Amino acid sequence: MMQFSNFAGNQQVIQALSSAVEEDRLPHAIILEGPEGCGKRTLAGILAAAAVCSGTPKPCGACSHCVKAQAGSHPDIFVASGGTAARSFHVETIRFLRSDAYIRPNEASHKVYLLFRAESMSEQAQNALLKILEEPPPHVIFILTCVSASALLSTIRSRARIFSLAPPSPEEALRVLRGKLPDVSEESLCAAVEEWGGNIGRILDSVGNSRAQEAAELAPQILQAAILREEFPLLRLAAPLIRDKDLFRAVLERLSNLVRDACVIRAGGKALFPHAAVEEFSAALTRERLMAVSSLVAQTRNSLERNANAALLVTTLCASLRSAVGR
Ligand SMILES: [Zn+2]
Repeated sequence: MMQFSNFAGNQQVIQALSSAVEEDRLPHAIILEGPEGCGKRTLAGILAAAAVCSGTPKPCGACSHCVKAQAGSHPDIFVASGGTAARSFHVETIRFLRSDAYIRPNEASHKVYLLFRAESMSEQAQNALLKILEEPPPHVIFILTCVSASALLSTIRSRARIFSLAPPSPEEALRVLRGKLPDVSEESLCAAVEEWGGNIGRILDSVGNSRAQEAAELAPQILQAAILREEFPLLRLAAPLIRDKDLFRAVLERLSNLVRDACVIRAGGKALFPHAAVEEFSAALTRERLMAVSSLVAQTRNSLERNANAALLVTTLCASLRSAVGR
């Protein structure tokens, strides 16, 4: 679980907030400001867990409050977010929170309201929020995130503690990324940090997207290779999956969609992801064999999530795929 100690960079902010938690003097309203991807939501999540946690040091990551907070199912943590458009954070949401805030917490000592993209609150919404901030119930904590607090009414700013987050240094970002993306090579991580300057959110997005793109190309090739007489092309295509679990995961997801399409085509329906390779695959296999491939892919996905050995899993997938297609 994310804790104060593994948040990247921003030492002074982390120090201030973690000691406020320790001394049980978190402000009723906290504004976290900073550029996209610098960790505002991550930090807001840590703070929310800390506010409801019953262990030490907070958030302990082990008590029932922390477990629920992490799963996004704690009854005393509320999340609301505006969209990217101005004034897309509506006053109705704040009015709901306002009536809810006066009701005592369900399970924890505090109720936490996370308001993301606070700059997209309409002025009406901000004024409604201001009414609670003027006389906040003692058990309530509001955490607002925004790119810049200057976009909020000065009356809101003056009733909140503002913390400015900056993207971490490249070294710090690398340390965090190694932990989050253990299967990605050091070389690609360094290249990503160079490109995004330590903006971890952006890097996680871009690495995730590049996997999805690679998988979209690789999955149909794997289906084509599976129905060849020779074994080698399939093994060669699948080899990169052994070292890159995210890519493996993305390819399996794609394969599962393509094989479902192949089954649909076989039954006379239309594919969701039309691809020549899928037509070919569908035409080469009986309905029973297609179903066998489909359950094989599902099983492999399950095993991967249960942390099975990737090398063994890839080898088994190739062998079972060939036998399922009758090669
Ligand atoms: Zn806890």
